[in-house]
Amino acid sequence: MTIVTRLRACDNCGAPLEDPDEILCPECRLRAIWNAKGIPKEQQDAILADIEAKARPGAKIGPFTIPG
Ligand SMILES: [Zn+2]
Repeated sequence: MTIVTRLRACDNCGAPLEDPDEILCPECRLRAIWNAKGIPKEQQDAILADIEAKARPGAKIGPFTIPG
């Protein structure tokens, strides 16, 4: 019997997770929502690039707080 200690990491990209209730990181959660809506990957990349450009430490973007 093997006991695997599951680190809290994104199921999709392996990024560390801050929220123990989530299985995906914020970016992958957004992409999952966008994929469900049929938003093309190029548009998703553009939105994420826009968010990153506006991101400042302590800034709130939707449900996300940009860590300082
Ligand atoms: Zn991820």
